[in-house]
Amino acid sequence: MNAHAFVPACDRSPAVLPVELLRQFDVPGPRYTSYPTADRFVDAFGADEYARALSMRRLAGAGAPALSLYVHIPFCESLCYYCACNKIVTRHRERGRQYLAYLAREIELQVAQLGRGAAVAQLHLGGGSPTFLDDAELGELMALLHRSFSFVPGGERSIEIDPRTVDAQRLAHLAALGFNRLSFGVQDFDPAVQQAVHRIQPASQVFALMDAARALGFESINVDLIYGLPQQNEASFARTLAQLRALRPDRVALYAYAHLPERFKPQRRIAADALPDAATRVRMLAAAIGQLTEAGYVYIGMDHFALPDDPLAIAKREGRLHRDFQGYGVRPEGDLVALGVSAIGRVGATYSQNAKTLEDYYDLLDQGRLPVVRGLALSRDDLLRRTVIMALMCRGRIEFDAIGEAYAIDFRRHFATEFAALGPLVAQGLVRLSDHDLTVTEQGWFLVRAVAMVFDRYCSANRARFSRVV
Ligand code: SF4
Repeated sequence: MNAHAFVPACDRSPAVLPVELLRQFDVPGPRYTSYPTADRFVDAFGADEYARALSMRRLAGAGAPALSLYVHIPFCESLCYYCACNKIVTRHRERGRQYLAYLAREIELQVAQLGRGAAVAQLHLGGGSPTFLDDAELGELMALLHRSFSFVPGGERSIEIDPRTVDAQRLAHLAALGFNRLSFGVQDFDPAVQQAVHRIQPASQVFALMDAARALGFESINVDLIYGLPQQNEASFARTLAQLRALRPDRVALYAYAHLPERFKPQRRIAADALPDAATRVRMLAAAIGQLTEAGYVYIGMDHFALPDDPLAIAKREGRLHRDFQGYGVRPEGDLVALGVSAIGRVGATYSQNAKTLEDYYDLLDQGRLPVVRGLALSRDDLLRRTVIMALMCRGRIEFDAIGEAYAIDFRRHFATEFAALGPLVAQGLVRLSDHDLTVTEQGWFLVRAVAMVFDRYCSANRARFSRVV
């Protein structure tokens, strides 16, 4: 497949996006960190199917591109009320050590299929809060991974940081362990919002950590913000954005809060009447886009911004962006081995997910079994649509002939229904169509998942499950 031949549709971001347009697309939609999305995974795909996928990769030998690794650490010290992650809130620190012992078992089972010493180009520790583990435990985890895999020199090693659990000394330890990228969960600097979501972290603490991280030479530092939280309003969010500009992280992830209390129990502690209304939320998003682009950030796509010299922004300019379960990245698409409770991986033409509860995860490992409980073997149609959707999400362009040749189809005829559905998006100036390609316009970039949804075979049936496009 010739996906890498695509060039980016645009590499600059419009400073202003009409609020009316954003409002119109304020509907649920997938984030497309995978296609098909995880709600399509089935129980019929389990440990045996995953083991086969790993063995096939092993057979490919040295020809297989280096792996990405994801390690999920599920524990958090306290509960953030907006949380939709798979986490376990506990103050029992000893649970981290027990978890590490089980992770070691899982790694052994994976290595038994994959072969010891598989090359790894990218490592990401996520959660929960990876920094729930203390320095010694994180050191043991890294030693374990180094005994099992071969880390490619110069590869990315990133970790999510809960600023409430680290200080400059801990950051120095992370640097010594080889981490070169950090992601700080900030969400909002406003004290009233922090109180409403039960996540108190003074701005001064985040600024001090940023200074320490820069002094330690971390290559890229990301900050997560969320708009649509309780007690947020346009004035308070404008102050948060001004503080963010002063902080000047290399990357910003700006997520919309999706209030789904029937699915995510912690959100039941958030009163619906404390949330900003849809119109305010849309105006906050428009203000954020304006503030960030004015401050020199490049819009990468799907909630992500980066400074122009950050590798993500460079990759976007050069048409080398990719997208996986961790969001946008610069590494070519490849296999992702996921470790830990509820972790989702991608190997060959399959997706797999580990048991979602710690009890089930430990139980399967006690039986000496890989803890995969669901997943998906992608059909040819899934692979074709994944190519189309990722081309849209990463490069904002579909070249009909290139994909048509790769899949032996007449692209326009094959997607005749989808082309008809694109009509309104063309009329609204979000996409341009020629005989040879579809291009997402500058404005369309901010609503790119609405364009991708047109090519999603499964989306309409499951819309209510997803967060909002805006
Ligand atoms: S938002 Fe993050 S830190 Fe807060 S409870 Fe959820 S996983 Fe833990």
